[in-house]
Amino acid sequence: TESSPQETDHLHTIIKDTEKPIGESTKHEFHAETRMLLDIVARSLYSDKEVFIRELISNASDALEKLRYMTISGGEEVEKLKDLDRPLEIHISTDKHKRTLTIQDTGIGMTKSELISNLGVIAKSGSKAFIEELKSKQGTGENIIGQFGVGFYSSFMVADKVEVYSRALGENEGWKWNSDGMGTYEIQPAEGVQPDTKIVLHLKTDCREFADEDTIKNVINKYSNFVGSPLFLNGKKA
Ligand code: ADP
Ligand code: MG
Repeated sequence: TESSPQETDHLHTIIKDTEKPIGESTKHEFHAETRMLLDIVARSLYSDKEVFIRELISNASDALEKLRYMTISGGEEVEKLKDLDRPLEIHISTDKHKRTLTIQDTGIGMTKSELISNLGVIAKSGSKAFIEELKSKQGTGENIIGQFGVGFYSSFMVADKVEVYSRALGENEGWKWNSDGMGTYEIQPAEGVQPDTKIVLHLKTDCREFADEDTIKNVINKYSNFVGSPLFLNGKKA
């Protein structure tokens, strides 16, 4: 079902749980290099674990820049934007009781095959591919390439379960991607997925500090200067 602008207005205030998995879930193996990387990341004793927040904000920001770029570059993609009447924002929420950290952006979203190719394989920068594609088509050079690091996989430094809900721009179908970072991930169709991306981190017991609003606020303050879109923490402008 297509969501109306009214339905997406809730992003102005706070992240809501609207998604319901439906239908069959399929199991996929991470590529060999990804498995190796995840293994290292999950066991990492790296003390600077908070960098995962920078990585997730950076991905959210990239997804918003891609959308922004589409709106100004015209072409057939603009057709997909016509129903999209909402601000380009990043929302983070914390839940101490559930021990979760959630980040949602109103960006470009991912299709099922993009979830597989972007979150299952490393050494393949979606942003770079996107730029290359745009360059070959439009001959412009926007600097939206993701920052160097382990990117999305850094989530598994602090989380033992990660859920990604995503629906690509112009698509009716939404998806739930989830993994414990142990070699496989699952993909399942889901109802009530906003046309964007929402990532839920189920934090490890020794990383519960990242479900604390003040901790996240401090980390965000270090990085938010680099974010080109408004950032909200538990509904408040960060
Ligand atoms: P990089 O950002 O360097 O490409 P990441 O591991 O951080 O590497 O992310 C992998 C890819 O997953 C991204 O390139 C992008 O295609 C996709 N991705 C991650 N987060 C999001 C998001 N919030 N919205 C849309 N796509 C995303
Ligand atoms: Mg990245």
